[in-house]
Amino acid sequence: MRRLLSKPPKGLRYEIIGQLTRATINTTNDYEPFTFVPYRPYYCPVCGDDAGAEGHIATILVLEFTSGEKHNFITWSHKKCFEECIETNEPDADLE
Ligand SMILES: [Zn+2]
Repeated sequence: MRRLLSKPPKGLRYEIIGQLTRATINTTNDYEPFTFVPYRPYYCPVCGDDAGAEGHIATILVLEFTSGEKHNFITWSHKKCFEECIETNEPDADLE
């Protein structure tokens, strides 16, 4: 199930896309963020700290904008941070 971020996501410059209405996150077993050194640190979208170390899970972050646009991102998140987000009844999102 998707979970709702209580605060705007960290580590992403989504402002260049538009006005954010909400952001949700769900786990995924199908994808993993690329291990590409220049991309480090891998910011956890929930807390903004580096999630490249241990205790991270692959997640899909969905950003929804006032324009109706949705953008899905694959991210590492801390398991603890993910679990602290509020559950919704919405099915998991996937990469589009
Ligand atoms: Zn975190």
